[in-house]
Amino acid sequence: MTTVANRIYDAVIVGAGHNGLTAAGYLARAGLSTLVLERRDIVGGCCVTEEIAPGCRASTASYIASMLRPEVIRDLKLADHGLRMVPCDPALQVPFPDGQLISWWANRERVVTELRKISPKDAETFTRVDDQLKKLARYLQPFFLEPPPQLDTKSLGGWSDLLRVGKRFRGISSAEICQLVSFLTGSLGDFLDRNYESEKIKTLLLANNVYGKHGGPYQPGTALGLLFHLLTGFLRTCHGRYGRHHGSDGFGCSRIRRRDSDRRSGRTD
Ligand SMILES: Cc1cc2nc3c(=O)[nH]c(=O)nc-3n(C[C@H](O)[C@H](O)[C@H](O)COP(=O)(O)OP(=O)(O)OC[C@H]3O[C@@H](n4cnc5c(N)ncnc54)[C@H](O)[C@@H]3O)c2cc1C
Repeated sequence: MTTVANRIYDAVIVGAGHNGLTAAGYLARAGLSTLVLERRDIVGGCCVTEEIAPGCRASTASYIASMLRPEVIRDLKLADHGLRMVPCDPALQVPFPDGQLISWWANRERVVTELRKISPKDAETFTRVDDQLKKLARYLQPFFLEPPPQLDTKSLGGWSDLLRVGKRFRGISSAEICQLVSFLTGSLGDFLDRNYESEKIKTLLLANNVYGKHGGPYQPGTALGLLFHLLTGFLRTCHGRYGRHHGSDGFGCSRIRRRDSDRRSGRTD
């Protein structure tokens, strides 16, 4: 219990980034009085829209929404507060010096058609790997919405978590365990060299999976990028979809804040 300006709160969150705001939204929804403290005069953390030149507003850090879960949009009723997601399609376009442009469309057949023009063998590999990754992603995706397991065999809670994790992996084959370990720990560069022949297709896959990483594609663990993208998606039905908040990134955070302030003033459920 903390007192701020003579008020007592059940929960205090330091930092109004999108995670702090979302946590505050859920706590308030559970009936707890919640205080969010932010050192800046704008909420959103890295997910903000700011004036970068007179009259010109832009996302100043995060530029795309990929990890925003559909459950959060639904639970916090963000659409009712004006949030509108616009899918990025294509999610990525890679131009080459010879003038060719490869696009990564949401529709897999459309991507495969583009890849087939470059290498029919790689197009086939792309489909096989995509199926494999989507299968593996299904084992990991539920963990996003659960507390991390505490695998302690000395307590009842630890056993129950062990059971929960075990149930998630029920039916996994030994081949899938090997694939999972290799995607979680291997290097993307090695994976691409082993599986693809076209340098252009390798470039497309690298562009989609190592951006934002301060290191090269041959570092151990970089293959995770392939799997990670399929764990994302603001649309439940479509793995790996990215989108933008209509009105830029900070708009999403301002919707969560607005929802919370509406709740305080009694304007919502
Ligand atoms: C350049 C860049 C680009 C990115 N692009 C993307 C992207 O396109 N898509 C994507 O999904 N993710 C992107 N990310 C990652 C994403 O922005 C972060 O994962 C996300 O912002 C984390 O949210 P958060 O709420 O945990 O923390 P933050 O967004 O970092 O928010 C933390 C908040 O806490 C406040 N704070 C810190 N200390 C205190 C204190 N002592 N008192 C009061 N307030 C405090 C800060 O001012 C800030 O507002 C990007 C990150 C960076 C840096």
